[in-house]
Amino acid sequence: MPISGIYGPDDFAKRPQDHAPTTSPRTASARGAALPMPSLEWTAEVERATAPLYERVKDVIPPVEWPLMAPTIKAINELKRTRNAVILAHNYQTPEIFHCVADIGGDSLQLAVEATKVKADIIVQCGVHFMAETSKLLNPDKTVLIPDSRAGCSLAASITGADVRLLRERFPGVPVVAYVNTSAEVKAEVDICCTSSNAVQVVESLGAPSVIFLPDQYLARYVASKTDVKIIAWKGACEVHERFTGEELRAYREADPSVQIIAHPECPPDVLAEADFTGSTAHMINWVRNTRPKRLVMITECSMADNVRAELPDVEMLRPCNLCPHMKRITLSNILDSLRTLGDEVTIDPAIAARARRSVERMINLKN
Ligand code: SF4
Repeated sequence: MPISGIYGPDDFAKRPQDHAPTTSPRTASARGAALPMPSLEWTAEVERATAPLYERVKDVIPPVEWPLMAPTIKAINELKRTRNAVILAHNYQTPEIFHCVADIGGDSLQLAVEATKVKADIIVQCGVHFMAETSKLLNPDKTVLIPDSRAGCSLAASITGADVRLLRERFPGVPVVAYVNTSAEVKAEVDICCTSSNAVQVVESLGAPSVIFLPDQYLARYVASKTDVKIIAWKGACEVHERFTGEELRAYREADPSVQIIAHPECPPDVLAEADFTGSTAHMINWVRNTRPKRLVMITECSMADNVRAELPDVEMLRPCNLCPHMKRITLSNILDSLRTLGDEVTIDPAIAARARRSVERMINLKN
């Protein structure tokens, strides 16, 4: 069914401009717990200790770069044990993070579900801020750290809790679904969350004729194309996925008609129209594992193609490389600092957290 309307900040004359921050990064000194900087020299011992990790990434990281990374990787893995910490990494993290220091990798839904099972005292979230907030919502008694609290997201920044309240006034009684790419403040105002893996299932689970779906207008259009539920959308977009065009995909196909193209549903409709398969990052990875195409164009954030190629080197990746500047704020160096200094700690106002947690747990329980 075509989407039934897209709203944005300009549609609300009295839109409040400010909203309270829900997190406050803390530094080492605030917690009084910094550990000294370990040696980061490239030695024979470092080479030996990290050799099995290099095996995992040798197809995507040149040998000349490994000595620059390996000492920090070894130090991070040792500090994880010292701190009783676990590292969660999104599929868009670079291969040296995703394959060499992360304990758990995946898409937003996988990370949210895995976060509920973590036994460690500390979670270090290698991803963007809303992901760290989601981990904190699900683990209120644990310390959740993000190596750089400036790692934001254009979707999360597009909407506030006040905007959701204005939408509810405009459409009384219509349930609201929020993509997990939103702040805790927004999650606190909605009925249920979803990810790109389960968006259609979540919308249909509400049993309502109309649903407000926010904030990604393109994911909303994709959901609308898969359901009879009337979708009212918000004007947000992912700054990485909206840059792809149908024209560039057609050029890949003209150059090689046998190429397979898979795309994330945050892409515009003309891109999805050219794709052989559309799905979340986890669904895309499973599709590649099962299909094993010879040549593949993966239309999503660039690092995921590297992570898949590290696992499946026989698949040739042709890729227009759009990097997410927010995801790339997370580096080996600031992960090490995060473990050393226990910063930046994610905190959420308890009143907001209780309501936001309910929206996330409702989604997770639906999944289970
Ligand atoms: S890739 Fe897009 S949706 Fe994901 S964090 Fe970056 S801006 Fe946000």
